[in-house]
Amino acid sequence: MANLIPVSYKLLKGMNESLVIRIIKEKGAISRADIARYTNLTPPTVTNITKKLIKDGVIVEDTMGESRGGRKPVLLKLNPGYFYVVLAHISSNHLRLDVSDLDTNVLASKRIKLSDKSPEAVLKNLFALYRQMVDQSGVPEDKIAGIGVAVHGLVDSERGISLYAPNLGWRDVNLLESIKAELGIEVCVENDVRAMAMGERWYGAAKGVDNFLAVKVGYGIGASAVVDGKLYTGITHSSGEIGHTTIDVNGPKCSCGNYGCLEAMASERAICETMSKRLKLGEKSIIKDVDDVDIEDVYRAANIGDELAIDVIKRISIYLGIGIANLINLFNPQLVVLGGNIIKVKDIVKPVLEDVVKQRALDNTYRGCKLVMSNLGDDATIKGAHALILSHLFDM
Ligand SMILES: [Zn+2]
Repeated sequence: MANLIPVSYKLLKGMNESLVIRIIKEKGAISRADIARYTNLTPPTVTNITKKLIKDGVIVEDTMGESRGGRKPVLLKLNPGYFYVVLAHISSNHLRLDVSDLDTNVLASKRIKLSDKSPEAVLKNLFALYRQMVDQSGVPEDKIAGIGVAVHGLVDSERGISLYAPNLGWRDVNLLESIKAELGIEVCVENDVRAMAMGERWYGAAKGVDNFLAVKVGYGIGASAVVDGKLYTGITHSSGEIGHTTIDVNGPKCSCGNYGCLEAMASERAICETMSKRLKLGEKSIIKDVDDVDIEDVYRAANIGDELAIDVIKRISIYLGIGIANLINLFNPQLVVLGGNIIKVKDIVKPVLEDVVKQRALDNTYRGCKLVMSNLGDDATIKGAHALILSHLFDM
């Protein structure tokens, strides 16, 4: 059942082919002359490689490009239907699965709530959703070359193991082995925040940026650093745990057991808890469910002008700004991208973050650094899974 075309392709082709495919993927539709310029390969070498790639069906000639005088150049791009990939995002409470072509066009997609979070139950759901979505997409199963999986928590991406996923209650779950055994396709597993960073780098705000940080705020808070174009993972795959850095020694207890962690003070969980506490004290809001505050209700209320919801979000944004200023002082990055579900209230969060970061980051570390809100939003993670599985399949 396994599709041998792209895999054998990966094994057979040389480094120059990889390089040409990477440039075409990175730059989009591009002329042969520009490929030669970016790769430092000679024009005859580029002509030979692209001829072979067209013959194999990996790339196609696109519509004519803009002429710089003289004949219009023919542009080359990846053949979106050369093969297809499946992308999965396992978050704290949900499983999303997409079937996509090489151009990130989504052919089928579904998101389900996870009631039983045991590894066996989640994998069973993943396999069922895989078959359902592949069927719905109309893509023949032997054209699916691989699956990119982004999962919450610590991940050893080399071995494809979820080391620790606190919100799922997982420890040492070998996702790669289980998925490969069941589906017989190539598998790539990565932590959700690192996947988000790759999504931003390939398809979003960090396109072409080699040194940047991605900060994801949702139920938890995590960060990922791209240094000189590469994901920095740390020696035990655990870098980026900004959520568990201390912001206030006298702060509330965190899920990790410590007190005053950023995550305990600025995550969506913190927003809901603060909201609930202030509602119980009698503060006015359009939100009526005092005990079980839903984050989506808070965001909706804030976006239609509910003063309490806006105030709670502004206050947590101060802590978030402190966390981001700390990161900027450590890394001196070119760009910080804020993503995750909190983007739904970006117009409230952004001005507060900018003020706090300006106050707290050193002039020299913040100079030249841009702080942007992700325009991919929650899609950045699944797009990152696309980037990761493509890198793996094409050996980029
Ligand atoms: Zn903590």
